[in-house]
Amino acid sequence: MPELPEVENVRKGLNEIVVGETIDKVEVRWPRIIESPEQNVFSKRLMGQTIEDVRRRGKFLLFYFTDDVLISHLRMEGKYQLMVPEKDGRLPRRSKHMHIIFHLKSGRKLVYHDVRKFGRMSLVEKGSEFEHKSLEKLGPEPTKDAFKLEDMQEFLTRRKKAIKGVLLDQQMIVGLGNIYADEVLFLAKVHPVTPANRLTDAEEIRIHEATIQIMGNAIKSGGTTIRTYQNAFGDEGSYQNHLKVYGKDGEACPNCGNEIEKIKVAGRGTHYCPVCQPLKG
Ligand SMILES: [Zn+2]
Repeated sequence: MPELPEVENVRKGLNEIVVGETIDKVEVRWPRIIESPEQNVFSKRLMGQTIEDVRRRGKFLLFYFTDDVLISHLRMEGKYQLMVPEKDGRLPRRSKHMHIIFHLKSGRKLVYHDVRKFGRMSLVEKGSEFEHKSLEKLGPEPTKDAFKLEDMQEFLTRRKKAIKGVLLDQQMIVGLGNIYADEVLFLAKVHPVTPANRLTDAEEIRIHEATIQIMGNAIKSGGTTIRTYQNAFGDEGSYQNHLKVYGKDGEACPNCGNEIEKIKVAGRGTHYCPVCQPLKG
């Protein structure tokens, strides 16, 4: 599942290749991917609009068109691909997983693939994008400028659930998924089941710093490539080489050599070191 650093990698790639392209027509082959408006309206409104910029908010891609913004959530397996005609003018073969095809005036096609069909798109008027239900409640981006320690502490004092679950909840901070939440708690030396409102000041400061550090490094590395997830253009992220606990159950902790364990927290497989991240009484 692409997390924030992987979506950011996709965004950069898209920005380099589709800005300035104008939509000729849109072919919707799996209507359920279009959440709103109704698919015919979606296709009609996009005709003739030019892509001006591709931005990101949390794990959502935002395509800024002339008049509208396309909000795209890749969910589990969604990906974009640009199809460029070969020398003889023909396009590469289509696959059954190509669900939305944006035919561009240049003759190229921007194709949305989604093996599991969980991804969703909405088209909204420019200026109203942050009022959309998928974006309005999102917390700050995990950067030094946006993510403030005091805001995080205030949020945590009102939550009794396990810190791991709070990190996954996109209201306190956006973009942390299962991989990075485990890595943040390992670096911060906090047990994943610790109730959020029982963290000490020192632990909160460590979580805050670890979040900014890990997310910054993961973005710089182009994200984490595990199993089949690649960005739109086949570039692989390299953060998988920096993971310390995620997916390492049964292996030695890089700090203390003790065995890394895997438990379930907030319904998610959670990796941690019981020695470096002890549970307080
Ligand atoms: Zn350890």
